[in-house]
Amino acid sequence: MRWVVAGAAGFIGSHLCEQVLAQGHQVVGVDCLVTGSRANIEGCLQHPAFNFVEHDIRQPLAVDGPVERVLNLASPASPVDFDRIPLFILETGSKGTQHLLDLALAKGARFFLASTSEAYGDPEVHPQVETYNGNVSSTGPRSCYDEAKRYAEAITMAYHRAHGLPVRIARIFNTYGERMRPDDGRVVCSFIDQALRGQPLTVFGDGGQTRSFVHVSDEVQGLLAVIEGPLTGPVNVGNPDEITMLQLAQRVVAACRSSSPVQLHPLPAGREGDPNRRCPDTGLLQSFSDWKPVVSLDEGLRRTIDWMRALA
Ligand code: NAD
Ligand code: UDP
Repeated sequence: MRWVVAGAAGFIGSHLCEQVLAQGHQVVGVDCLVTGSRANIEGCLQHPAFNFVEHDIRQPLAVDGPVERVLNLASPASPVDFDRIPLFILETGSKGTQHLLDLALAKGARFFLASTSEAYGDPEVHPQVETYNGNVSSTGPRSCYDEAKRYAEAITMAYHRAHGLPVRIARIFNTYGERMRPDDGRVVCSFIDQALRGQPLTVFGDGGQTRSFVHVSDEVQGLLAVIEGPLTGPVNVGNPDEITMLQLAQRVVAACRSSSPVQLHPLPAGREGDPNRRCPDTGLLQSFSDWKPVVSLDEGLRRTIDWMRALA
């Protein structure tokens, strides 16, 4: 098959492209490099079945020839970007998603949307099941991202209902691993960066807030199960092992064999509305696939630390 992957040069997108190429498919990777990089797709660029198109999906996209899958992973996803480029994020989730839906419709391709656990906002239902409609602020600092993704889900379902377009939606929970941007402010790479430099680890708030971290290799397998699976979705894809940020900081210090102290800091500006608990219910994904995460947090941290050490 021929796959168009938007967001190909990003963290998750680049790992996904490698898997799709390994399965013997052709990939047209599309990216405007706003938060991704050519370095992420160095391996793909050597592959004869990979073509890279530098393009901003806020503009319509034309691709010659047959296409069977159109994947939308293109969106800045870090809280530091919510403050820096909110309008870009909103346009990417709205206009950008529509342009890719139009491409899928024109080609008769299956469309896939990489949505997010942010669709649940600061959840009151725990763990989060797909039937929970969420607790999202439409005006807070995270709203440019959360509402862009919720709109993207809505327009994806509207194309499905109005045009019969085959679609799949996955809600991705916190993913970490090799090729995360070390300076993008997300917690795993920030803590590792701080621990490797011997600086204090900056735990925001009281550190009691939880997340559930999945290694990127497991996340990609889960996304492929959704893309090729029978359900329109949305389907949660993430690791159901929950951990507090204080515990994470301690695990990172130990894994880096660092002597960095762990310090509590007030939530920085732009982090208001930081969700207090987050953990996926993965029952729906497991109802049609045998997917389960296989990389433990300690093993995933080790791989990520090795990768970040090599960058320095
Ligand atoms: P990333 O920033 O590394 O990747 C996103 C890629 O999309 C980048 O290469 C960027 O340059 C590209 N991009 C952004 N806007 C674009 C546009 N208008 N046109 C073309 N390319 C554009 O982020 P990631 O962590 O790999 O996230 C990938 C997808 O997964 C995103 O849609 C994100 O919302 C979703 N997601 C990620 C996480 C996570 O924990 N990493 C969690 C939930 C959802
Ligand atoms: N966090 C932290 N210190 C940091 C960066 C993040 O304590 O240096 C916390 C943040 O407040 C949040 C959690 O880690 O509760 C996850 O943040 P991240 O930005 O990685 O992802 P998201 O908030 O989107 O889940």
